[in-house]
Amino acid sequence: MTVSYERRGPVAVVTMNRPEYRNAQNSAMTYALDEAFSRAVDDAEVSVIVLAGAGDHFSAGHDIGSPGRDVDQSFERRAVLWWDHVGRTGGDLRYAREMEVYLGMCRRWREIPKPMIAMVQGACVAGGLMLAWVCDLVVAAEDAFFADPVVRMGIPGVEYFAHPWVLGPRAAKEVLFTGDRFSAARAYEWGMVSRVVPRAELEEETFRLAGRISAMPQFGLALAKRAVNQSEDLMGLRAGMDSVFGLHHFAHAHNAEVGADALAGMDARAMKEASG
Ligand code: ZN
Repeated sequence: MTVSYERRGPVAVVTMNRPEYRNAQNSAMTYALDEAFSRAVDDAEVSVIVLAGAGDHFSAGHDIGSPGRDVDQSFERRAVLWWDHVGRTGGDLRYAREMEVYLGMCRRWREIPKPMIAMVQGACVAGGLMLAWVCDLVVAAEDAFFADPVVRMGIPGVEYFAHPWVLGPRAAKEVLFTGDRFSAARAYEWGMVSRVVPRAELEEETFRLAGRISAMPQFGLALAKRAVNQSEDLMGLRAGMDSVFGLHHFAHAHNAEVGADALAGMDARAMKEASG
């Protein structure tokens, strides 16, 4: 199972479960996450959702190299009403696929009417950031590290472009321009994470926070979440993301036009080597 689901009282725990690939996110995992979140939304006993990653790392990002990579497969689409990417070519293929499984799914999850807490240890990189960012709160272990290194591929950030809103514009630029890892402590200074705790206390702190929240009325929580999300959208998040999604796909297309492929010939190993 690529995703596991567990109930602990009023808290649903959704766990990415590909630790051998540092929870690299393929489409199978994306749709399994969506199913788990749907189950938690429908369960009236659940007030808070915790998103976790099994093993030493939260998520190393999108699957660009594991044997389970499934970019050529069809899945029943849920995020947007658009045609299947399978059987399409070029920008048509990439736009259809990424609008559904990356931007569309992340937006869908951001609107889940129950508070979500990301419980982050180890790597939270590129596509992994997107998963943490759609959560309302982030509890990070001291060993957690974050990065969006995709400028190395000539691409201006991952598909769900929340960077300026969750990091602030200046930190967003530093993170993108250098591609460097930043620590949980730094992420806390920038306001991107809610708490930083020793690794041994990560679970305890996350569930303590989830427990406090679950004492609140569900409908009040749903409205409070929507209130903040709508305010973020009024600060330009949604429209900004739409415009940057165009730049993102322009970069993919440029890569494909001048080079070997849409990722500028970079695979998981090349990205790791380039980051030292
Ligand atoms: Zn992309």
